[in-house]
Parts: sequence; structure tokens; C-alpha cells
Amino acid sequence: MGATFGLDERGVIVPCASCGKKNRVAYARLGDAVQCGECKQPIKAPGEPIELHSSADFDRLIASSSLPVVVDYWAPWCGPCRIVAPEVQKVAARYAGRALVIKVNTDELTDVGQRFGIRSIPTLAVFAGGREITRVAGARPAPEIEALLQQAAPAHRS
Ligand SMILES: [Zn+2]
Repeated sequence: MGATFGLDERGVIVPCASCGKKNRVAYARLGDAVQCGECKQPIKAPGEPIELHSSADFDRLIASSSLPVVVDYWAPWCGPCRIVAPEVQKVAARYAGRALVIKVNTDELTDVGQRFGIRSIPTLAVFAGGREITRVAGARPAPEIEALLQQAAPAHRS
């Protein structure tokens, strides 16, 4: 269902909506207008949460992303995490091109949860400029998650 986005060591892999070719958008260019390398159509910014499967990818993304990053720390057995999932999905859709939403399964990426001191899930955190700006524990509706994002971008850019 929907486009499948991925990550590698250099950027986010975004399938072209026109020709299907997978394009890599470098972390540092996430907020830029990007064209498909094949058909030159504009590449749509990721509008859904991206699941991370490597803590090295997490570190590189956080260090070099040109957009604020919302992190949804979750695990499959966590009931409240299932309540948060559609909310972060809404945020990802509304903030496509302005923020990146990622999901970190703390059972899979245990070292990320440990390094950042995640003691309960769901926890939602916002990173910008390579550092954590804010976090909240517990399920939140989309508007509250978006309010967290506003803290990462106090100066409005047009
Ligand atoms: Zn294309």
C-alpha cells in the first residue's frame, strides 16, 4: 500500500511517481525540489513515515538531514503505539517536504533506544540540526506532534 520509501547510507530512496525509478534524495537535500534522474519529473517528498532498520542510518540521517526529523519510537507489542501510528502518518503527509517522519522499533534498534535514553514507548522526539530539540512520552494526536515540530522551526521560512 502506497509508495515504499527506503533509506541508505546517503539518503532517502524515493520512487518516482511517473516512471517508478527509485531516486536517492541526499539527506542534506531533503527540503529541495528534486527531479527524477530518469524522466525529469519532480520527485515528491516522502509523505509517510519511514521505518529505519539500521542505527548507522539513523545516525547519518540525524546528522545530515536538512529537514527536522520526527522520530516515533515504538515496538510491535505496544498498544498505545498503535494509536500513535495513524497520527504520525497524518503529520508525515501534512509535512511532506518540510519534515521527515521516521519510525524506530526499539526492539530492533535497541542501541538507539539505549543511547537516547528511551524509557517508555511510544516516545516522540524531534531532531533538527543534528541534535534533539524536544521529546514527549505517550500517545499524542497529530496536532500535538506538529506543535513539537514548531519548536524545531521557530523562524518561519517561506
Ligand atoms: Zn521518473
